[in-house]
Amino acid sequence: MKKFICTTCGVQYTESNHEPDHCHICEEERQYVNPEGQSWKTLDEMVQSGQYKNVITKEEKGLYSIKTTPSFGIGQTAYLIVGEERNILWDCITYLDPYTIEFIG
Ligand SMILES: [Zn+2]
Repeated sequence: MKKFICTTCGVQYTESNHEPDHCHICEEERQYVNPEGQSWKTLDEMVQSGQYKNVITKEEKGLYSIKTTPSFGIGQTAYLIVGEERNILWDCITYLDPYTIEFIG
């Protein structure tokens, strides 16, 4: 079973033996379906391709931005706010590699 990711919006779906028929996010009127058709990837495929990496930038003391390059989905940027007792991850990105997971803690 695989967790398929919509390449247009970057949303990951629950485990399935086959690609979803459609993406609920992209079919919503505020989003769009890729004119070349629906396509899917898995996180494992992204990691194994070696094509993607996350750029973690210190924006200011206690605030980091995390962005995937090359851009994936709608080019989301996550922000990590580092607190004294706990951290807050604001928004999320699709591509999570071991380095990013360890950085976020
Ligand atoms: Zn989608």
